[in-house]
Amino acid sequence: MTISILAIDQGTTSSRAIVFGRDGKTLSIHQKELHLHYPQGGWVEQDALDIWADTLEAARACLKEYPDVSGIGITNQRETTVIWDRKTGEPVYNAIVWQDRRTAGMCQKLKDAGHETAVRAKTGLLIDSYFSATKIAWILDQVPGVRQRAEKGELAFGTIDCWLLWNLTGGKVHATDATNASRTMLYNIVTHEWDAELLKIFNLPVSLLPEVKDNIADFGTTADGIFPRPYKIGGMAGDQQAALIGQACFKPGMVKSTYGTGCFALMNIGLQFREPQTRLLTTLAYKLGGQSAYAVEGSIFVAGAAIQWLRDKAGFFTDAAESEKLATSVPDAQGVYFVPAFTGLGAPYWDAEARGAILGLTRETGQAHITRAALEAQAYQTLDLMEDMIKDGSTDPAVIRADGGLVANSFMCQFLADMLGRPIEIPACTETTALGAAFLAGLQAGVYKDFDDIAASWSLAERYEPNPSDVHKSLYEGWKRAVARVLTS
Ligand code: ADP
Repeated sequence: MTISILAIDQGTTSSRAIVFGRDGKTLSIHQKELHLHYPQGGWVEQDALDIWADTLEAARACLKEYPDVSGIGITNQRETTVIWDRKTGEPVYNAIVWQDRRTAGMCQKLKDAGHETAVRAKTGLLIDSYFSATKIAWILDQVPGVRQRAEKGELAFGTIDCWLLWNLTGGKVHATDATNASRTMLYNIVTHEWDAELLKIFNLPVSLLPEVKDNIADFGTTADGIFPRPYKIGGMAGDQQAALIGQACFKPGMVKSTYGTGCFALMNIGLQFREPQTRLLTTLAYKLGGQSAYAVEGSIFVAGAAIQWLRDKAGFFTDAAESEKLATSVPDAQGVYFVPAFTGLGAPYWDAEARGAILGLTRETGQAHITRAALEAQAYQTLDLMEDMIKDGSTDPAVIRADGGLVANSFMCQFLADMLGRPIEIPACTETTALGAAFLAGLQAGVYKDFDDIAASWSLAERYEPNPSDVHKSLYEGWKRAVARVLTS
């Protein structure tokens, strides 16, 4: 019998279930696309019941083919916030997605009141609407009756991992893992507890909050009727941390960078929490056996979404893969810069009001130059992060392990290597997020012995060697000038 593990990977645009073999090979994959709702400018919501139904359908399809999996791991879009009734399981409002900016004003007020210092020292984060805390506060304050019900202990809050776990266990387990908790802005990543002072700052009752477990733990067993037989849920981590694990970045200084809709780079900085000195975040990398490893994280809100925009709105091509041929049909971008600040700029700028721009247009500019500029922007944005990451992590990464949909584009990968002046490694399994969740559940189930065992099953598909030059240096200076044009503060 093949040893296998089921990973549930609930992302922003799709809900997937993947069965992995012990060697990290994908045996089965099922997925459902997920709708995003935009009720107002800057608002982004999803139907939490759809998220659960789609995830269940994908997981059932996988388990039909591989009913003997050793356990289940869960990974998820982080920060996205759901509040539901503990008795009925009914969400009191749609899930508010991480990209949602409706609480930007609330965040500004909290910053003006001087709360950022405490938040940064306790959570490693910045006060931003990206994280869950102000999304919870919004639901409590804006949905009639919800604050009273929350105060009576009738409601539960969870990020998507927690929401799925609650449903998988038939409402028995209300728990999250430390990495997901670390993105709420309420969890103290130094003392490892929900923080009373933070709860006071955001005016939230503790009764809403789930129990926080290590990334490898007994998260519970699936309830009767969910699947033909019960399975143990043994691992859980937020998507970016799961990718760090899936990329086997277990040593300080190891970096993974995921290029999907957005781009998220994490560098393992070891066992000591370090308050960030730059505009990056410190976050929990993982917590195992009570011991934590930390990471420096840079989040870029728009990466592949810029390619999607060129495809769907600008109509430059019909398939994202065509972007490579188009970009390489010209020798350079001819001075064109594409700053993809569609939803503001994330790290290291944190400018919610900035909007995208294409600069440097001339009569000669064509689709190829603009497409090339959009791909080059991925590397510029990564370099923006890398410089701060080295300062915060105090280690200079020797290589970058990259993954996500965009790494199928070898022009982008080579330009990234040249711009960063470091090799870019692409793993054989690019579903690193799901693989990370499978690794965690596999450790709990005894499929793997330890991290070394996991690291041995990571394998390289492609390596891009850097050829940096003065041209890259001056291109990057041009990028800095282009970004300066869109910043609002
Ligand atoms: P997510 O998990 O965030 O939904 P994925 O990792 O599946 O994202 O990556 C999808 C993104 O990658 C899309 O934005 C798409 O435009 C982009 N993409 C996929 N293939 C290519 C390619 N060959 N060249 C450029 N961009 C690509």
